[in-house]
Amino acid sequence: MSKPVVENVAIIGGGIGGLATAIALRKQGIDAHVYEKAREFRPVGAGVSLKPNGLRCLDAIKPGLVDKLRRLGFQVQRTTLKTSTGETVWTTKTPMMPKDQDLTFAIWWWHLQHILASELPSEVIHLNHRCVSFEQNENTVTAKFENGKTVEVDLLIGADGINSRVREILIGDGQPTYAGSMCWRAIVDYRDELLLPDEGLIIRGEQTAMILYPLGQGKINWSAGKLFPESFVSPSAAETKYRVLKEFCNWMKPILEMMAATDADSILETPICERLPLKQWSYGRVTLLGDAVHGMSPGGGQGANTTFEDAYELAAYLYNFPDLQTALTNYDKRRIQRTGLFHLKWCIRIASQKLLLLRQAI
Ligand SMILES: Cc1cc2nc3c(=O)[nH]c(=O)nc-3n(C[C@H](O)[C@H](O)[C@H](O)COP(=O)(O)OP(=O)(O)OC[C@H]3O[C@@H](n4cnc5c(N)ncnc54)[C@H](O)[C@@H]3O)c2cc1C
Repeated sequence: MSKPVVENVAIIGGGIGGLATAIALRKQGIDAHVYEKAREFRPVGAGVSLKPNGLRCLDAIKPGLVDKLRRLGFQVQRTTLKTSTGETVWTTKTPMMPKDQDLTFAIWWWHLQHILASELPSEVIHLNHRCVSFEQNENTVTAKFENGKTVEVDLLIGADGINSRVREILIGDGQPTYAGSMCWRAIVDYRDELLLPDEGLIIRGEQTAMILYPLGQGKINWSAGKLFPESFVSPSAAETKYRVLKEFCNWMKPILEMMAATDADSILETPICERLPLKQWSYGRVTLLGDAVHGMSPGGGQGANTTFEDAYELAAYLYNFPDLQTALTNYDKRRIQRTGLFHLKWCIRIASQKLLLLRQAI
């Protein structure tokens, strides 16, 4: 019987990628622990759309997990495109991905994180552990945390998001690239003047766009974006809300009322950033996954989904290859190719949109 090439692993980051990886590794008999900088997991975040590729990996990582998620998620049955002043451009009664309709739904990010965390023994999730550095030699890697603790393991995985500290130390290629747009998201109570209970809404304005969709349990997710040459973060929640209302002030009344009724503290303001593809993800006993290595624009809806692919494949390679170096070399090769494909698709989509605008202008 084959056995994994490592016995113990430290995963930096208790986001959805780190947690899914811990579940996958522990299933292989690896003693995987998660180290998260936050003091507690709180009900934050907005909606995430889970797609067939990500859900298939989650199902393979832990059978039954997707059913739990589906019970908390929501599947849109029709999609409508409107202008910012409220005129309907088109509407379709089929889900966006009819072929895989059972395998596509939206869920509140917090529900996703909570369900993943509940699949792990509580003693393997170490909150209030911000990783500040690590050192590796031929036999081990030692992670150091802001709270003074250290941990020595066979493998360190950086699943610490788009501003990854692990990547900074391992590769040192600077900050993520600002992709030229700002995004504001929140979850609010369902309002029937905005959309039907099973409807997803796409609204386009000038340099602005918005997506609204139900999340189930009487809630809807709104996500509004605007092109901006410079990224910024508002100094307070009140100013974030003021900014959203100002940027969308010409939009239809029901949208403005919804924004006005949104609790300022719940609005997430995010400069949309990307990580340019790397030629190598793993060095010695340290590797990366998720946004830490391939943070991508949310427009493709693949950030979380490809992160679950990373988790599944990394665990499989650590089990199926004879030594750590071969496992990580193959992980890099496969994942660089696969995530590069999504990057390429996104670049083509952006280029064709720009071309269309150019043709309309001529
Ligand atoms: C506007 C928007 C909409 C999106 N919508 C979708 C969607 O519909 N579908 C989809 O597939 N994806 C979507 N995404 C992308 C998705 O949210 C990410 O790809 C996904 O969360 C990546 O997971 P992760 O675990 O790699 O990183 P994260 O979720 O960022 O988790 C990283 C974790 O690491 C912790 N951490 C950071 N630094 C340290 C440190 N030094 N020490 C310890 N812990 C640390 C953080 O606190 C965090 O908990 C969206 C993203 C945005 C911005």
